[in-house]
Amino acid sequence: MLAVRDYCFRHYGLKLGQREARLWGRPEAGIKSRLKNFVMNRRVFHPVGAQAKDEVADLLSWKPDYLYGYASLLLEAAQILDGMEIEFDPPRCVVCTAESILPAQKAYISRAFKAPVAEEYGSTEFDVIAFECTTGHRHLVNPWLIVEEGEDNGLISDVSRTSQSLIRYQLGDLFAIKGLGCGALGAVESIEQLQGRTLDRFFYLSEGNKIHASAFSKLFDQYLTETKDLFLFSLRQDAYSELKVFIDSAPKNGTTDLKEFLEREISGFAGVRIGVEVSVVANRDRSEKRNYFVQNMKAPE
Ligand SMILES: [Zn+2]
Repeated sequence: MLAVRDYCFRHYGLKLGQREARLWGRPEAGIKSRLKNFVMNRRVFHPVGAQAKDEVADLLSWKPDYLYGYASLLLEAAQILDGMEIEFDPPRCVVCTAESILPAQKAYISRAFKAPVAEEYGSTEFDVIAFECTTGHRHLVNPWLIVEEGEDNGLISDVSRTSQSLIRYQLGDLFAIKGLGCGALGAVESIEQLQGRTLDRFFYLSEGNKIHASAFSKLFDQYLTETKDLFLFSLRQDAYSELKVFIDSAPKNGTTDLKEFLEREISGFAGVRIGVEVSVVANRDRSEKRNYFVQNMKAPE
């Protein structure tokens, strides 16, 4: 597994064992994790709350070779950095993992840290499955893993291990596999249209009518790009044709602007009137892995 990661990192001129600034949940306490981080040449930073700015300054003065962590934490760090007047040596690469991220958000992180951003797709059981090349394809990178699209779940088999449980294992995410004309990294196949849990894939207009929730990420990407803005968001549906939007800070053009944009665009392609409610919440729940949209209704069949 380490060999695969090493291979991906080399694509960005990095080697395993180089300084890693890890943006993770809460910093772990205790001698064991401190020792592990020391051996791995890694430091954990948590750029959230009152110390966020100091944490980002500490991170940069430690001069990491690369950053690794949750997309949402990297975004928060990028936002803080954006508002600071600070000179720093850019890392070679920023690797985001575990959460969905939009192209506009990646571009923002890249600008703030003055480094390329690579998206990693993996799981606890299989470690790195796909890794983004410098051109932006999410290549399959582990030659021992057979990845299949599956009907409503990506399937994966590990041919290097004999365990039955690792044959056509359900990843819990849905994706398409696409052939590429790019041989920069791993296989000439990539993972596209990555989405979270089956349940959270549809937004219901009425009992018999639904639209695919992936449309929302495209709209947010469009909005962030057009308004040159950046905020974190999550979405929830509690009632037919009603979308709840939670954002971590007010948009530059105001919440009404965002609300009207979403209502207009979604109603346009859904063909019915959609109500959007936007609320600013300081502390976003980070527990939903790879999901920005949560379906809270009992999904009709
Ligand atoms: Zn490529």
